[in-house]
This record gives sequence, structure tokens and C-alpha cells, in this order.
Amino acid sequence: MEQQLEVHLSSLHDDPLEAAASMTGSLASMEAEQYAYLAEFLHDCAEDPALSAFDGGERRFAYGGAGTPAIPEFAVTQVQVQLGLSPYAAQRLVADVMSLTHRLPGVLAAMADGQVQAWRARMVATATRDLPLADVARVQEVLLEGVRGGVPLVARITRKRLQQVLDQAEMTVLPEGVAEEIEHWLAARDVTIRPGERGTSVLSGTVSTADGARLTHRLTQVADWWVELGDTRTRSVLRSVALGMLADPGMLDNLYARVCAHRAGQDLLDLDLSDVAPSDLDPLAPAPSGHPLPATVLYVHHEPDTTERKPGGCWSLDGHGALSADQAAELVGHSHVTLKPVIDLAAPIQCPGYVASPRLKEHLALMNAGLCTFPYCDQPAIGGDYDHRQPYPRGPTTKTNGHLLCRRHHRAKTFARWRVQSVTTGVWLWTSPTGDHYVVTAGTTTPLVP
Ligand SMILES: [Zn+2]
Repeated sequence: MEQQLEVHLSSLHDDPLEAAASMTGSLASMEAEQYAYLAEFLHDCAEDPALSAFDGGERRFAYGGAGTPAIPEFAVTQVQVQLGLSPYAAQRLVADVMSLTHRLPGVLAAMADGQVQAWRARMVATATRDLPLADVARVQEVLLEGVRGGVPLVARITRKRLQQVLDQAEMTVLPEGVAEEIEHWLAARDVTIRPGERGTSVLSGTVSTADGARLTHRLTQVADWWVELGDTRTRSVLRSVALGMLADPGMLDNLYARVCAHRAGQDLLDLDLSDVAPSDLDPLAPAPSGHPLPATVLYVHHEPDTTERKPGGCWSLDGHGALSADQAAELVGHSHVTLKPVIDLAAPIQCPGYVASPRLKEHLALMNAGLCTFPYCDQPAIGGDYDHRQPYPRGPTTKTNGHLLCRRHHRAKTFARWRVQSVTTGVWLWTSPTGDHYVVTAGTTTPLVP
């Protein structure tokens, strides 16, 4: 083994990054081996409690979920001490090892083959712990779907996306459980404001997903109003100012009136709102009329292969990930929601000129699961840059000649010799400065091994 490792290292010594990358698979295999030893020890303890218990008074738990053996609690303590872990970390490790061994053998095998990193396998094990065995098998089947006879889906997506896939699986299979969890977290909502550094207060807290989305839109909208009126402070500062204004909605009315006057080319309201203290406003003034928020966009992912137990596909909110049916309903209950089925991405769109239209950007974003098209990037595509593959005007502003990149990766492509080709609509082939290739499609990344 030692000899092998030496040969391995010396042959790659010329390229330290390549050497580091090549170890990812070996590390996964070694961790799978460690899990196999742990499973062997835990099984021995499950069969013969005397191996771990000395007074016979210990309890047993199926840490790994349904279908995994009950493990004596002090076996976990032995694992904890021998591996130098905290009690909580040891319990989580034992739970994940048992889950992978008994409920997700395919994922564990892919890890042993070096295809799936340990953190991905453990994320799957943890997230599927409460699912019945049959449903875990189905999730495993989806996650192991491979391309080129190799890389399974679970290894081709970002951490955020994997979490979303797992959340959706849980919401579809166990809607009651998820609803209970949501209720639990909603019941713990809280907002606190405490003194911060000189002249500031620090605000922290939790709101519902729907409130969070609406608040985000409102703060952006009010910051935009200030910019429209010529305010040169940064958007971050203006969003904070906007939040403060919500303390007295009448101030929003005044600001909006000024924006309207400004748009109409009038200068009727010569009022500097930054000087208006809430006490200056008439407490008996009528309640603010309210200004419509920009629409919240809710994407409906229809799954054609639905079974009786998952009739409705699922939903996602831009920037907020997967939603339960109740959360989606709460958003729909709000009047300014645009529902968008994820369909017809093949329809051609051409924009006159250099700038990509919002519709073109939306389609391009959905073609890569809402993400920047750079390998493994988890930044949102909406709000990113439209990158012309063939420079404009030789290349038009269309779906086939462009894609969306976050700012960092737009710079990587412009300045760091990363190259991209569109193999076909929605499939991008990236070439690194050192000549490595990556296929990116539908939010997945697959390295092409020569
Ligand atoms: Zn990116």
C-alpha cells in the first residue's frame, strides 16, 4: 500500500493541483473502507451487547432509521472516544454509517468506487433518515442516475442543489412530517433589535419564507425609488433605510408621491424625507394605501412520472429553494404572484441589440436549474451577466449564442482563458486553461476524463 502511494505521488509530482484533485476519489474510497470497519464493529455490538456494555443497563437505538439494526448506546461512546469525536458527532457518524450500509448501499458503493465524496453520501443519509425504506430506494435510484456509464447525479450537482433535491423528496414523500417541521420553526420566529456599533442597531431574526420574499422585494423596490430620485448612497445602505421606513408606512406614501412627481417631471414635493421623523407625521392620517410589490415568481416543476403518492410535482421560489405545498399556497394566497410552469425552454428567443431581455435571461436560467453555467458554480443565474459566446454583433443575442454567468465567472472567462462551447441548446462544454473539459447541463457538472 505504501509503495503504491509513493509511485502514485511521484508520477503526478509535476502538477501539484492535479495530484491534489486525483486524491478526491482515493479519499472517498478510504472513508468508505473506514465506514465498513465501523459497520462491522457496530454489527458485532448489536449482536453481542457485552462487547460494549459492562453493566447491562444500556439502551439501544436504530440510529440509522427504519431497516437499520438497534445499536447499544455505549457502542457509540466507544466510537466517539476511539475516533476523537464529540458525542453528537459520533452519534451522527454512526447514524450515517448505518443508513448508508442498510438503506443506501448503492450510494455507499459509489463512494467506495471513489465516485461520490463522503460529505455528499452523508448528506443523503442524513436527509433521508425519516423516509420509509421503499422511498429511500427511489431517492437513491434518482441520485445514482449516471452519465457516460460513470459519474452519478449525486456527484454532479452543487451542495445547495443536492439539498434542494433531498428537500423535494422529503416534501413529496412525507408532507405531514415537513408540515410539522415548518410549524415548529414558524412557532420559533423572533425578531430582536439590540444596540450595535456607534449610531447603529443590529437587527436579527426569522420570518416566514413568504414574508421573507415579500420583504426582499419591498426593500429592493424602496431602494430603487431612492435611486430614481438621485440618491447616491449604496443599495445596501438604501435597503437599510427602507427597512427603517417600514416603521412608519406613511413615510413610504410620501416617498412614493415624490417618485410619481419626479416621473411626471414635476417638482411639487420639495420634501427631504431623511429629515422627517415619525413624530412629524400625523398619527391620525389615513392608513397608507399601499403600493403593489413587484410580482413574486413561483416556478412549478411538473414531474410527469408522478405516482399516486406524489400527485403535484413541486414548487420553488427564486432564491429560496424548494417549497412545501402549504408554503406555495401561502405565496399564492398573496395577490402578486406569477406562477410559471417550467416548460417550452426550446422556444427560440432573439433580442435585437446587445442586451438580453428579461425573458431570454429567465429561459437561460431555467435551462441550467437557475445557476451560473460555470462548472460546479452555485450562484444564481438571474442577476448574472449574459455572456455572448460569439462576440456581438457577429454573434446575436439569442439562447444558442449565450448563457448566464455570475460576475466572478464572467471575469474568469474573460481574463483567465476559460473557454465555453454550446454543444446543443442547454448543454455547455467548458475547457479550463490547462485543457480539462467539463460538461454543464441542467445544473449538473460532469468532468470529462480523457
Ligand atoms: Zn459562477
